[in-house]
Amino acid sequence: MVKATVVGAGIAGLAVAVRLHRAGWAVQVLEQEAEVRTSGTAVVLHRATVRELRSLSLGPGIDALALPLTGLRLRTRTGLPLSPPSWPASGSVLIERADLIGLLRDSLPSTALVLGHPLAARDLSAACGEAAVVVGADGVHSALRQQLFGPAYRAASTGTTVWRGTAEVSTSGLTESWGRRRRFGISSRPGGGTNWYATATLPSAGLAPAPSDLEELRRLFGHWGGAVAATVARISEGSILRHEIHHLARRLPRYHQGNVALIGDAAHAMTPDLGRGANEAILDAMSLVQHLEAHDDVGSALAAYDRSRRRVTQRIASGSLAVHTLIHGSPPHRQDRRPRAMTWDDEKDPPVPTYLEGSSLKRVHEGRVGEEHDDDAGSPEVDGRTS
Ligand SMILES: Cc1cc2nc3c(=O)[nH]c(=O)nc-3n(C[C@H](O)[C@H](O)[C@H](O)COP(=O)(O)OP(=O)(O)OC[C@H]3O[C@@H](n4cnc5c(N)ncnc54)[C@H](O)[C@@H]3O)c2cc1C
Repeated sequence: MVKATVVGAGIAGLAVAVRLHRAGWAVQVLEQEAEVRTSGTAVVLHRATVRELRSLSLGPGIDALALPLTGLRLRTRTGLPLSPPSWPASGSVLIERADLIGLLRDSLPSTALVLGHPLAARDLSAACGEAAVVVGADGVHSALRQQLFGPAYRAASTGTTVWRGTAEVSTSGLTESWGRRRRFGISSRPGGGTNWYATATLPSAGLAPAPSDLEELRRLFGHWGGAVAATVARISEGSILRHEIHHLARRLPRYHQGNVALIGDAAHAMTPDLGRGANEAILDAMSLVQHLEAHDDVGSALAAYDRSRRRVTQRIASGSLAVHTLIHGSPPHRQDRRPRAMTWDDEKDPPVPTYLEGSSLKRVHEGRVGEEHDDDAGSPEVDGRTS
């Protein structure tokens, strides 16, 4: 049996391991944590991703655990509609991150997973010698990416804070409310209740004592309209996850080197604005193994994988950053450029049609923003440039 080593047991690493296992490879997944991490709330899986997961015989699990999803409703902070439901297309589902990870993990033989085993950069050449292919699925702060391409490809902070959690309040579908440098998202939970997420660009705290996350959320969103204030009122402090958004600002020139391939956030960590990172990670995994099956030598397979996945994922990352910039302004590492956040008054809703139309929004949500920079795709000199 041909041997593959996968570094990282997130969605990307587990998906590629399941696909390799199904293709008859001997797979070992090295995960630095003592447990496979399942924290986080729900993720949207798009139709193409669901189709790929069904091809791994995960259809019954998805049907049992996921909720069908139609249309994202965008609203201003006072509840006015910003666009007709435009995304995602029918066939998309909402699934708890823990359930998706569980479905993938349970499709692997228990011996495939080696927990509490970080792969240090110095171990990479030994791993490459032992396995026919090494898959770097070690996430946004990928050590393998930096080992292969250098420190210029370290992930950067966008300066935006994200909070996530669940609340015992009923809702249906997926709604996002946008305000000046702030956003609040609400979606139904497969098991009942609400998943919520919030993003904000916070001024530096200075010397004042930092408020708790709940205090901060109430201050930022507790007066918003629609279902936002009602959801914020039902959030309990212990249930809040908070972190800073990081992304890969500089596009990689290749997704492979030698017999190492990068997939998922290791290859193209993007801001979460289009809800595509996990989807693209799964599509990377499927594409990589498909090319390994189609080619006799690993080098040709990895080059074909790069050709089929790099351009499209870098475009989507650009589109995602465009949406992020629209709401939050340019990330600190891009502030030499003109700030592009929507300018609107904190206290008043903007005149909707003048700054946003269903058609332009559809474009960014389909990841089509950034196409105008096609010529740049692949250039190591170009960062995650957006329109
Ligand atoms: C707020 C938010 C909401 C999101 N919503 C969506 C959504 O709705 N839809 C969507 O498609 N995407 C969404 N995303 C993006 C998505 O979560 C990520 O793109 C996806 O989880 C990336 O998976 P990954 O496996 O590449 O990386 P990770 O999930 O980060 O996994 C990497 C794994 O590698 C391990 N690891 C790291 N270094 C080493 C090492 N040296 N040795 C061994 N193991 C190592 C880590 O412990 C981890 O388990 C969202 C992201 C955020 C932040």
